[in-house]
Amino acid sequence: MVLVVNAAFDDSAHEDPGHPERPDRVTAARLAFDDLELGSDLVEAPAYSATRAELTRVHDGAYLDELGAFCYAGGGDIDPDTYATYDSWAIAKLAAGAGLAVIEELQRRRDGIGFIAVRPPGHHALANRAMGFCLLNNVAIAAAALVARGERVLIVDWDVHHGNGTQQVFWDDPRVLYVSTHQSPLFPGSGTASEVGGWHAIGDTVNIPLPPGATGDVVRSAFDDIAVPEIDKFAATWVLVSAGYDAHRADPMANLELTSGDHADFARTVAGFVPGPGRLAMFLEGGYDLAALRSSVRATLASVLDVAGEMEDPSSGGPGMDGIQRAKSERGGALEMMHRAAQEETQQ
Ligand SMILES: [Zn+2]
Repeated sequence: MVLVVNAAFDDSAHEDPGHPERPDRVTAARLAFDDLELGSDLVEAPAYSATRAELTRVHDGAYLDELGAFCYAGGGDIDPDTYATYDSWAIAKLAAGAGLAVIEELQRRRDGIGFIAVRPPGHHALANRAMGFCLLNNVAIAAAALVARGERVLIVDWDVHHGNGTQQVFWDDPRVLYVSTHQSPLFPGSGTASEVGGWHAIGDTVNIPLPPGATGDVVRSAFDDIAVPEIDKFAATWVLVSAGYDAHRADPMANLELTSGDHADFARTVAGFVPGPGRLAMFLEGGYDLAALRSSVRATLASVLDVAGEMEDPSSGGPGMDGIQRAKSERGGALEMMHRAAQEETQQ
């Protein structure tokens, strides 16, 4: 199986000394590509700068103007977490275009699996605001491009943080099923089980909050129990992953206890939902421990490409099993309420 990745581009000028979202992260992810020794099965698609039309499927034009102007004025801190430099606008547009380029290459080949190793990451970026290290929502921009071509897109977000930006963008869109596993409580604070989507997309947002310390067995059980029935029902024609690796136990930003073996397991499960060849692309989001990032990207790709790759054992025994039924019933209650209210609305 071919692995299609974005060709490397220079993102070194998007940097804030001491900030954890740093250029070495992409280097670590790309070293994982090399670890797999794929030879001619590793294919690079050159990134291009996403066009305004591609960006405005997700972002407000006014926000794009503001962000561009902010960068060209020299940049600075957008909020306490999120920075931009003079070059960030150009780099962010390349990061967004990298995803589109990889998807185009997969579609041309009708085969392979995509991995987009870019920064800044994207899943916290809202339609009208940067946040959580994210400027443009790369995965959402890719999903919106696919939706524009008539596809039904499943987004699985296994970053340790809730992808509030992606959730917001597709909140009321029945063509996208957004599924997120994340630690709770944790930044950005959203992603309760009762957030299930808007009136036109009731059930098309699936949130699986997990307590600090949760291990791979808990994440898998919760995913199987809460998300899989929704995924089966949705019948996606394309699958995108917000592949963050900050749920790894070595990551300094959060407290889940996953290993590279858990990431391999989870990736295999998600690959099982892909409806045909050339319809799976994974986007790097978080992941701030460089060794864990490299080993987890390697394990993820070894598992979905079915090639040899060293990995840790899956983890088990952490807290959270008893919370799964609670989350499930919280979701069930919210769905029931939404459906009842929608029914009353149509009767009036
Ligand atoms: Zn994250």
